[in-house]
Order: sequence, then C-alpha cells, then structure tokens
Amino acid sequence: TVTIGVLAVQGDVREHVAALTDLGAHVITVRRPHEVEAIDALVIPGGESTVMDKLVRAFDLQEPLRKRLADGMPAYGSCAGMIMLADRIADARADQETLGGIDMTVRRNAFGRQVDSFETELDYAGFDGSVHAVFIRAPWVEEVGEGVEVLARVRHGAAAGRIVAVRQGNLMATSFHPEVGEDRRIHAEFVRIVEQSR
Ligand code: GLN
Repeated sequence: TVTIGVLAVQGDVREHVAALTDLGAHVITVRRPHEVEAIDALVIPGGESTVMDKLVRAFDLQEPLRKRLADGMPAYGSCAGMIMLADRIADARADQETLGGIDMTVRRNAFGRQVDSFETELDYAGFDGSVHAVFIRAPWVEEVGEGVEVLARVRHGAAAGRIVAVRQGNLMATSFHPEVGEDRRIHAEFVRIVEQSR
C-alpha cells in the first residue's frame, strides 16, 4: 500500500483522510518537516489558502514540500489546495505564496459573492456519468500551460466553460470538494496515479 499524507495545517483534513482511508490507502497527517519524508503522495485540503500558505511557511514545510513536488511526488489539491498547487494566482495579494507545480493561473473566490457556494453536475474526463460537484468560495482556473490537461469545465450559467479540474503529470487539482459526499471516484483516480508513479 501507498502512504498518502494529508497536509494538516488548516482546512477540511478529516474528510480527505476518511475518503482515502475508505479506498484502502495508508494515510498520515503532515504538520512537520520530517513527515514530508514519510509520504509517497500529498493531498492538500480545502480551507483558506492565505492562512494555509502562512502556516506552511511558519511550520517550515514550504521548502521540503516544494522539493518533493519538484522531484515528482504526486499531489492532489481541492479548492484552497488547488490554489496551493498553482504556479500563479491572478491578482494575488502581495504576500501570498503557493507551493506551485501546475502551470496554471487560478483566480480566488472567482464565482463571486452572489454565489458563494453552489452545487452542480459536471462531465469529468474519463468518468462515466456526471460528477456532483460542491463549490465553496471556489477558485477557477483562468489559464493553463500546454502541459496541463483539462478534466472538467462548468456546464451552465455565467461561469459556463470555466476550468474546474486539471491534471499535469502526477499533479491533480479540483476547484470543488469531492471529499464532501460519497462519490470516491476522484480520490480513487488519485490513488491510481500514486500507485502508478511508484
Ligand atoms: N476561498 C478560499 C481560498 O481562497 C478557498 C475556499 C475553499 O477551499 N473552500 O483559499
């Protein structure tokens, strides 16, 4: 079995631990630099990316995580986790940094105040049937580099066509929260990526 770390400085850590445990993965939480050495892959939960970034730096996790990501460690980020994996943030606050890894620009809180949270059905590359997606003050992906595969876009409404799931090599990110609810296909897809990378 693979050991998957869930970054546990802030956010909905418990939901990701439960989803991955359901799938038979060995899961540990990651709060300290030495724990970064013990994992085969990383999941970054939803939460608040500005706070997550500050804590990652305060706990001396930024450098070891960036190093593992640069060495090809698989990672999956949902919502704030997507922002942490983005190489660029549109209109970033001057002091906000990311871990990076995916050649994309994300826009935080992109869906606007009127629709802070919403749920919708998405087509998702490689899946039969749609994915029920929960968005909570979510980012969207504003632009992607050539090496980035788009896995899902919003179907309807003002944001139709916006990119909300991507993959680049062993890195995966979704604007929405598959850890909420019972559908485990996205986590299962990530576990497959982790197993294939070993
Ligand atoms: N708006 C949050 C941020 O910018 C993300 C929200 C979430 O993870 N549910 O980090």
